[in-house]
Amino acid sequence: MKMISACLLGIRCAWSGDERYKNEQALRLPQTESLLSVCPEQLGGLPTPRSPQEIQGGSGEDVLDHKAKVINGDNVDVTNHFIRGAEETLKIARRLNLKEFIGKSGSPSCGCCHIHDGSFSGMLKVGNGVTAALLRRHGIRLVSEGDL
Ligand code: SF4
Repeated sequence: MKMISACLLGIRCAWSGDERYKNEQALRLPQTESLLSVCPEQLGGLPTPRSPQEIQGGSGEDVLDHKAKVINGDNVDVTNHFIRGAEETLKIARRLNLKEFIGKSGSPSCGCCHIHDGSFSGMLKVGNGVTAALLRRHGIRLVSEGDL
């Protein structure tokens, strides 16, 4: 069984509360393998819908090391929610012995390899989201939705 960002399956957990991140490739995966969907931002206690969020001052790795923050569009620091969501997601992965995570590209939580650059302008930069970074530190393989 693999873990996957729930929004890729059309679950309405995105910040906007709609299906904007539904991925047709991801929707075909259950034909060949078992998936467990998670939304780290909801697990971290954030509401849906919510203000969009981006990492400022670094990557998800830097957030885990307390060198960067996650800020929402209302300029509120939501870093603690992101760390809690990452820890809960890791807990699920460990309890179920899951070894792979398929993440939503660009997300400050689930982004694998690319995240938004913190300017709320739509620009991407290299780096992992907070949850992706924590899972990677614990030996879980990251797969970006773009590689499906
Ligand atoms: Fe939730 Fe991750 Fe999708 Fe964001 S990218 S809505 S945290 S599953």
